[in-house]
Amino acid sequence: MGAAAIEDDDPFEEQREQAENPMRRLFAEYGAGNRFAFVVGVVSSITARALDLLPIVLLSVAIDAVFGEKQFSLLFVPDAWLPVTRSGQLWLSVTLIAVAFFGGAAFHWTRNWGWNSFAQHIQHSVRTDTYDKMQRLNMDFFADKQTGEMMSILSNDVNRLERFLNDGMNSAFRLGVMVIGIAAVLLYWNWQLALITLSVVPLIAYFTYKFIRIIQPKYADVRSSVGQVNSRLENNLGGIQVIKSANTEDYESERVEDVSQNYFDANWDAIGTRIKFFPGLRVLAGFGFVATFLVGGLWVISGPPGPFTRPLSVGEFTGFVLFTQRFIWPMAQFGQIINMYQRAHASSARIFGLMDEPSRIAEDPDADELVVEEGGVVYDDVTFGYDDEETIIEDVSFEVEGGNTLALVGPTGAGKSTVLKLLLRMYDVDEGSVDIDGQDLRDVTIPSLRRQVGYVSQDTFLFYGTVEENLTYGTFGADREEVREAAKAAEAHEFITNLPDGYDTEVGERGVKLSGGQRQRISIARAILKDPEILILDEATSDVDTETEMLIQRSLDRLTADRTTFAIAHRLSTIKDADQIVVLEDGRIVEGGSHEELIDEDGLYAHLWGVQAGEIDELPEEFIERAQQRDARRVETDDD
Ligand code: ADP
Repeated sequence: MGAAAIEDDDPFEEQREQAENPMRRLFAEYGAGNRFAFVVGVVSSITARALDLLPIVLLSVAIDAVFGEKQFSLLFVPDAWLPVTRSGQLWLSVTLIAVAFFGGAAFHWTRNWGWNSFAQHIQHSVRTDTYDKMQRLNMDFFADKQTGEMMSILSNDVNRLERFLNDGMNSAFRLGVMVIGIAAVLLYWNWQLALITLSVVPLIAYFTYKFIRIIQPKYADVRSSVGQVNSRLENNLGGIQVIKSANTEDYESERVEDVSQNYFDANWDAIGTRIKFFPGLRVLAGFGFVATFLVGGLWVISGPPGPFTRPLSVGEFTGFVLFTQRFIWPMAQFGQIINMYQRAHASSARIFGLMDEPSRIAEDPDADELVVEEGGVVYDDVTFGYDDEETIIEDVSFEVEGGNTLALVGPTGAGKSTVLKLLLRMYDVDEGSVDIDGQDLRDVTIPSLRRQVGYVSQDTFLFYGTVEENLTYGTFGADREEVREAAKAAEAHEFITNLPDGYDTEVGERGVKLSGGQRQRISIARAILKDPEILILDEATSDVDTETEMLIQRSLDRLTADRTTFAIAHRLSTIKDADQIVVLEDGRIVEGGSHEELIDEDGLYAHLWGVQAGEIDELPEEFIERAQQRDARRVETDDD
């Protein structure tokens, strides 16, 4: 069974294939620092398991010598040291058995400490390193992966490594010591009978391996069908309003019943296989037991049967029978260990593949700090596409003087946000250049750039935490007074003080829900605190009522007063006073100038303005047709 069979439709297949020898890397890069725990785990595993076997060996010796006629002797111990009376021999055997039990308990404890410590430390380091690397990846990596898929690496994959390093390694050593240790003792006692007893080992190994192969795809079906149930339920509960208004409750109940039935069927199928495993194992183990008992019993009663020649004492016979029972259960985990290893292999391949993911934006090692004095920005013949196939921005050139405002206008999908992502260097231009005060963005360090370019978006993400923590996000050193001043300038102070705990109110996913307009003002206050030289306002005012818009506009005017500002807005009234307006269509600049100049030009901008200002009812037919064509093209590319 290849590791790939376990992971269908892996969104990280590309990364997984890049990683070479991921398990070796895991041990080399992360295991090395935890060598002590590893050694404790290995040594204690071997010792603890060996001590588990000792009582049976001692019992078998005692049966023959203390209760039988044989000479009392222990391997590795000179006979002269051993007691000669039967009661002395009994006491010695019992004492050694007791020591084996207590010693075994102590080593089981250190064994668990060793493996758990090894696994937990590696889990912790791998998770933090992976997260650190992940958040530094380029934006396009996030664009075509879903959050859930990224989460799955940080949780499921990392956990699987931990499971293998702890349970898997633990079981593997137990299996190894049990099978090798028992086989050694049995072969030493009587290699002929041992061959009969041990003949079930490969059978059990094959049986459990086969079982895992059969059950794995069934478990994959179960996982996929439970995923379908969850998404159906999530989707329906999210769309409950539509369901009610469309009166489709019965229809939806049927759909839920369908996916639930699939889950039931998949589960039942897996259960059907699973519940046959242990009875099957018992049958195989029973064969070994019965065969050993029968052949060994005959051996003891009337000497070596058939072709056999070696002698067998009652004590050895008892040891044989007891040992047969002991290696069955470790063997039952054989398939499980292989499975855990394969999963861990796939997981570490994904993790290391992700860590090796090349950065599309490579920082020049000799990059200088960006020094902004005027804040002048020049786009010179910029061409850019997210992939090699489609050019999104073509030959875009403009120049903004320090302190001025440039507004980007154009239909959805024209490339306005993309133009500004290039200024933040979320991506590098394919051709041309973007300069700030004469410095090419590719020649300056990314932190110095991002520090001096502020970004206020329409939909601000609030982290779980207090309002104050959200305001100071990125400007962690700000004191209370500064925070309040910034909130006042952003027209946010009023509503914040009205929240249940004022600045200490918990917001974000689990906290108080803020409206879009409120979140936007938090974002503006954040930008005021950060005090960047250059500012990007992404569709900064839309979707709010007129009063809120006025508040936001007022705070924005304060924020943008003496900064170079780039604004994207659908409502043209908000950017009417911009020093420069650039109209984009299909990634190209189609018009540019001040509001008055563009109105005089009577092109796309003038018509959009006319519609928004209520001067004309509808855009001319040619603009609508162009919009329809764009829409159709977008659907085509989405379908690809
Ligand atoms: P606007 O801001 O004018 O609405 P965008 O810059 O967001 O336009 O998008 C321009 C084009 O680039 C659209 O066709 C969009 O589908 C595409 N696009 C935007 N972001 C990405 C991305 N991360 N990966 C691939 N294509 C993208």
